[in-house]
Amino acid sequence: MHEFGIVDGILSIVKETAIANSLSNVSSIKLRIGEMRQIASEMLLFAFEIAAKETVAEDAKLDIEYVPVRLRCRSCQSESEIKDSRFICPSCGNMIGDVVAGKELQMISLEGE
Ligand SMILES: [Zn+2]
Repeated sequence: MHEFGIVDGILSIVKETAIANSLSNVSSIKLRIGEMRQIASEMLLFAFEIAAKETVAEDAKLDIEYVPVRLRCRSCQSESEIKDSRFICPSCGNMIGDVVAGKELQMISLEGE
């Protein structure tokens, strides 16, 4: 359950941001997560609920935006989205590519008062 580790990381950024902006109560947190990270949203929400207890983010709602995995073909440089872990370039049939999106783990915004 690496979700707990992720939540810890998110919460420390949230706490720092809340202090920097003099917020005493965070109401919503927007995250961007790459699908390659294989984070289960139910697990993340569950871990967050536990970890955020008695912090400024206790009542915060998590808004998660998932980013699909995209690869760039090493032969023809075309980019494509993949749904499973197999990658075959739709343009040339090559099977080797570099990940250009899908590894994100960012806090995009935070709201509170
Ligand atoms: Zn290709």
